[in-house]
Amino acid sequence: MQYRPYGKLDFQVSAFGMGCMRLPRILKEDGTAEVDREKAYELIRYAADHGVNYFDTAYGYHHQTSEAVLGEALQGGYRERVKIATKQPFNVMKTHADIRRNLENTLKKLRTDYIDVYLIHNIQANVWEDIKARNILEEYEKFRQEGLIRGIAFSYHGEFEAFKDILSYYPWDMCQVQQNLLDCDKEVTEEGIRLAGEKGCALVIMEPLRGGGLANAPEDVQAVYNSYPVKRSPAEWAFRYLYDHPQVSCILSGVTTMEQLKDNIRIFSEADAVADSMTQEERDLMLRAKAAYESRVTIPCTGCEYCMPCPQKVDIPGIFQKYNTGMMFKNFDNPKRTYMFTKNANQSAVNCIECGACMKKCPQHIDIISQLKAAHEALDGWKE
Ligand code: SF4
Ligand code: SF4
Repeated sequence: MQYRPYGKLDFQVSAFGMGCMRLPRILKEDGTAEVDREKAYELIRYAADHGVNYFDTAYGYHHQTSEAVLGEALQGGYRERVKIATKQPFNVMKTHADIRRNLENTLKKLRTDYIDVYLIHNIQANVWEDIKARNILEEYEKFRQEGLIRGIAFSYHGEFEAFKDILSYYPWDMCQVQQNLLDCDKEVTEEGIRLAGEKGCALVIMEPLRGGGLANAPEDVQAVYNSYPVKRSPAEWAFRYLYDHPQVSCILSGVTTMEQLKDNIRIFSEADAVADSMTQEERDLMLRAKAAYESRVTIPCTGCEYCMPCPQKVDIPGIFQKYNTGMMFKNFDNPKRTYMFTKNANQSAVNCIECGACMKKCPQHIDIISQLKAAHEALDGWKE
């Protein structure tokens, strides 16, 4: 495993960090799902036993159970060997007492006395002024003095200008941002990555495979990769594009299967999985692969679920995921079949009353209402 410095904090982290937002799940009879704890423990411990020393979770992941699953998995001596990053959402920060209570609850769930890196989850430009005005960072400073947390950080989805403002306001230990081959010129951009590096703020990357999509290459994208003499999997190319940046400390990837985990560990253990290792020819290749992908995917939904819940129960990310899958693979058979289940669960796009609530929350600025209509048209009509 390759390790990298973590900004101002005096530790090295594995270049691959395990994200605990896509843990394996068990589907229940009532149609809901819960984390498959035994499988999740196995993945987390396998990762820790094979060099992964950075685990990312959040209060809200897996319906507020991800922290507890991680805490349980890390019992038996694992906790001391790894770094835990977790996130507190703004909606639990009604009062300073709430902020403390939430942290105490998180510590209990994680079965630990301290959190290595504590983040404000998904700072949005519209709440940033409130966070400043209510001195929430002062409260975090107190936690640090008490030894409850070590690093203070934030995660962010949004435009570069607001990111720059947040980054400049406080000597953050880390910022966690969405970056991947397809988003390199959106959100924080390459400029934001450079700025974070200049400030000595560790940079942790989320959504490196765009919700897993970049791990699969349709024929035209694969043809681009095949044109290069060195053969690598699509996921490896996508990770490679990111770890080439020297400012990046850690790349998070949500893990669901052992196969994914082993592949990620292999990729990040290669001798050349280091910064500044790409040739100009490889950078050009990545740009061509990006163009090939972009010519296919029409809805840039990452599956983050910030638009949820919809008051009409429309499964927005699920519908977009089915639509994009159909577009990516030029085949709507399976997406149509699975959309039938969405309809049966009364969660299809026809339920949308166009209230617009979801659109205000989408970090990708998707015109959700009209895209739902387009998706429904393409997905409806499965016949057994
Ligand atoms: S616009 Fe439609 S999909 Fe979005 S929240 Fe309202 S009802 Fe749900
Ligand atoms: S529509 Fe937007 S907010 Fe909803 S899951 Fe997709 S990217 Fe996230």
